[in-house]
Amino acid sequence: MSTITIKKLSGEDLFKNIISHSKEYGFIFQSSEIYDGLSAVYDYGQMGAELKKNLRDYWWKAMVQLNENIVGIDAAIFMHPTTWKASGHVDAFSDPLIDNKDSKKRYRADVLIEEHVAKIEAKIEKEVEKAKSRFENFDETMFRSTNPRVVENQKKIDEINARFKAALEEDKLDEVKQIIIDLEITCPVSGTRNWTDVRQFNLMFNTQLGSVSEEASTIYLRPETAQGIFVNFLNVQKTGRMKIPFGIAQTGKAFRNEIVARQFIFRMREFEQMEMQFFVKPGSDLQWYEQWKKTRMAWHNSLGFPESKYRFHDHIKLAHYANAACDIEFEFPFGFKELEGIHSRTDFDLRNHEKFSGKKLQYFDPEDNENYIPYVVETSIGLDRLFLATMSQAYMEEMLEDGSSRVVLKIPPFLAPYKVAVLPLVKKDGLPEKAREIMNQLKLDHLCIYEEKDSIGKRYRRMDAIGTPLCITIDHQSLEDNMVTLRDRDTMQQERVSIDALMQLVEAKVSIRAQLQKLM
Ligand code: ATP
Repeated sequence: MSTITIKKLSGEDLFKNIISHSKEYGFIFQSSEIYDGLSAVYDYGQMGAELKKNLRDYWWKAMVQLNENIVGIDAAIFMHPTTWKASGHVDAFSDPLIDNKDSKKRYRADVLIEEHVAKIEAKIEKEVEKAKSRFENFDETMFRSTNPRVVENQKKIDEINARFKAALEEDKLDEVKQIIIDLEITCPVSGTRNWTDVRQFNLMFNTQLGSVSEEASTIYLRPETAQGIFVNFLNVQKTGRMKIPFGIAQTGKAFRNEIVARQFIFRMREFEQMEMQFFVKPGSDLQWYEQWKKTRMAWHNSLGFPESKYRFHDHIKLAHYANAACDIEFEFPFGFKELEGIHSRTDFDLRNHEKFSGKKLQYFDPEDNENYIPYVVETSIGLDRLFLATMSQAYMEEMLEDGSSRVVLKIPPFLAPYKVAVLPLVKKDGLPEKAREIMNQLKLDHLCIYEEKDSIGKRYRRMDAIGTPLCITIDHQSLEDNMVTLRDRDTMQQERVSIDALMQLVEAKVSIRAQLQKLM
């Protein structure tokens, strides 16, 4: 077996390479590229659309198909404008922004402070790692509570967090600016501290409904999919005869006029969310919150990426609707960032919709013989961020024993765009016909790709680059012994197998069934 060495890339290089690879192989294109693009809006190409669909399906199956008490809906993007009054988005869905007067660049004030805190956290972690490698029987807890530098830095973090939390809670934007000044935070572009005042900026896009201007009313493009679930809570509960606790899941587009939209598909103005609202009896909400934290982390781990790539991050400032909230963060090439949010939303949304609509949104509990507004635990993940996380883990540049190199996308096989490539060794002698026969069988179950152009080596490299887990090569011998070569993307190992065994071998490799079983 040949040895493979993985090339180590810095986060920045890795990220750049992922972006160009995504474009070169039809995963992601800049939106309206021929018009020089539209900022923070992206299109998924032929490969990207498949991977995205497979990720969405895996989430849907894990949520809806495996849980008898969760059902899925597909609500409209446009909603009655009062929805967004009731949800608090008209008044409070804004980010504090600040401009640097020299570079004219705009930043989220909260992000500037959080990044400053993250730098101090990184110093602490470096100190801990250094000590860990020096001492045997290292007592980490003791070290964290006694090492003077660690203690000092932790104290700084706690002070900043407390001050920042108070400023946000009391809506004191001048104090937020003062924190930025006191921490001596500079603009990464101009390097200066010449800041404007901090202002709140609402992130919702609006448009007009109706063709006649006098009749037209302002409506919003939904900034989250969750409200489509809340306004349908009773419809679904009654028609589906759902009993609490139960969940409603939904995937779909959301729109936010993000102030700082950089980092490729991490922060977009049009993106897709996969959300699930779990309706529970008041009082059991925090227990369910803990349960969903575990369930969602287990789902992430089931993708097979290293567990060290994920961590929980508790919110210091809770959103207007939450009594507990955390993020599942993923280590993207640019560091740990939010991938999914888990929020205990209390009865905030249903209670407000009840108030604003004048319609009762209560559940009659047959066991306790009482009516109540359920509490809600929400899990909310960005499909595009999940896509980026998958690409960041899958993308590898490898040096092979013979001195050549390859780029391979080690996408978990059940998620790969194409599952199998069917490749006749040459374009003649009856090999294409034999290959077509195999293709016609396999494509009933799986998305397959047929390729007969270029040398077999080149075709293998191309399949590696788009993450196809299996290649089947048909050669002259195949016509005689009914055997083909099956090549594995990750190990590059090849074995001769019978054509009759192919269906089973492919299924074993790419089965979503086996994957779902891990979650039960
Ligand atoms: P952030 O703090 O990064 O702005 P958020 O806390 O506002 O995110 P939520 O409102 O909790 O995000 O949305 C749930 C999920 O939707 C996020 O975990 C993220 O994966 C995704 N998401 C939110 N905003 C964007 C965006 N602009 N582009 C892509 N995905 C997004």
